[in-house]
Amino acid sequence: MQMHRFGFHPGRIHHIFISHLHGDHVFGLFGLLSSMGMSGRKAPVNLYGPPKMQEVMGQHLKFFGPLPFELRFQAPGDPDKVIFEDSKVTVTPIPLKHRVPAFGYLFREKEKELNVIKEKITSLGLGIADLVRIKRGEDHVCADGKVIPNSKLTLPPYRRRSYAYLSDTLYDPSLVRYVKDVDLLFHEATFSERDEKLAVQTMHSTSVQAAMLARDARAGKLLIGHFSTRYRDPELLEREARTIFPETDGVKDGNTYSIPLVRISRE
Ligand SMILES: [Zn+2]
Repeated sequence: MQMHRFGFHPGRIHHIFISHLHGDHVFGLFGLLSSMGMSGRKAPVNLYGPPKMQEVMGQHLKFFGPLPFELRFQAPGDPDKVIFEDSKVTVTPIPLKHRVPAFGYLFREKEKELNVIKEKITSLGLGIADLVRIKRGEDHVCADGKVIPNSKLTLPPYRRRSYAYLSDTLYDPSLVRYVKDVDLLFHEATFSERDEKLAVQTMHSTSVQAAMLARDARAGKLLIGHFSTRYRDPELLEREARTIFPETDGVKDGNTYSIPLVRISRE
């Protein structure tokens, strides 16, 4: 329902990454899958998440009846092992510390092909085979044996963009190594700084802890959310985080962010 409200079509979803099996993180999945079924979906859905997820889903389907499409399950393995990859991105799991097994995910863009400078195509009479090699990063050898370096033939490459999702977790500074230099970091911030004790007890993080992780990882931007309903003014958590990491936004369901494409300077 929420997805439709935000103008996002569930038919386009093929892969779903689940962090852990707490109600606020999985109950919505059942509704989503069943509405996909009712809209006549046939394509399989790939679910990634804790090993028990398959069992939970199995129980659910036993009671409510099967879905008209296949569900494929995959549990995260080693943190540095890619769990999903296509032509554009890789996804790797990040081990979190929570009351039940929990995983974050790092989405990293793959390197794009280089763009060849248009004038060079005509001035050097480049053919398809030449272009394929140059786009891969090779230098060009002219008919007379002269070598033209790749950097003179192509525009500077794009920086690979990345996004990490960390929820739910106890503050864990050792996570920095998984999210170093990430462009966009979502980190849960269930509690205010003043309720740090509660955060530790329930294995959640505070706004300031999320900001410390973003600062130490040198993230481009921090998104915080998963706020406890005890705070009447959720902007309090945003303000607290900004004292440590100014590039912080508090987020709500339906907010979208895009990471700009930037070319790497060759100078
Ligand atoms: Zn939880």
